[in-house]
Amino acid sequence: MQALFKQYCLLCGTTSDNDLCTPCRDSLPHPPLHCCAVCGLPASESRICGACLANPPAFDQTVAALRYAFPVDALVHSLKYQANLPMALVLADLLLARIDGIACPDFIVPMPLHPAKLRERGFNQALEIARNVSKKSGIPLLPAICERIRDTPSQTGLPWKERAKNIQNAFTCETDLTGKRIAILDDVMTTGATLNELAKVLRKGGATYVSGWVIARTLPGDV
Ligand SMILES: [Zn+2]
Ligand SMILES: [Zn+2]
Repeated sequence: MQALFKQYCLLCGTTSDNDLCTPCRDSLPHPPLHCCAVCGLPASESRICGACLANPPAFDQTVAALRYAFPVDALVHSLKYQANLPMALVLADLLLARIDGIACPDFIVPMPLHPAKLRERGFNQALEIARNVSKKSGIPLLPAICERIRDTPSQTGLPWKERAKNIQNAFTCETDLTGKRIAILDDVMTTGATLNELAKVLRKGGATYVSGWVIARTLPGDV
């Protein structure tokens, strides 16, 4: 039976059975083959990079579906800045393909937005993606256990060195997470400073394992 509505690839516009046609999906930029299991940056075959061994972050693992480069940046922008909410499902599917086979956490926690930012944007893009990932994977979502209490200047405009300081003490979490394994879901990971700060708070709440699940990881040279 023929489909009632034709669907078009979001990137190239050809007719496609999915949001992205197979050639476009196959050509999305992926993280390098050998990455540090903790921070997700390129590493030699050893599983954990020197920086993470010397100075372990508060999170245990980074899982990035893609690299933050063209056209992934355009897909993320369209959700975030053009309120293209159906894009959250497309991005969730890309992440779901990447986490297939990875040990399941107990809960998914979306990266919180500060209430002022939420009012301005109208939605939290991390929550929109997390909702779809939770629904399709069956991993329960904890959408509101953490709060962003400091409205920090955007990390985007800051030099990498200043980002850790800028985000310090930005979050709170009052929920008891003793013994829980948590995946923090965010759209983009750049230095990992924001992820690290939220992971600290979840650990303080008792979480024993914290992963960062991100749609796209910025690699040195991509920015
Ligand atoms: Zn296409
Ligand atoms: Zn590392």
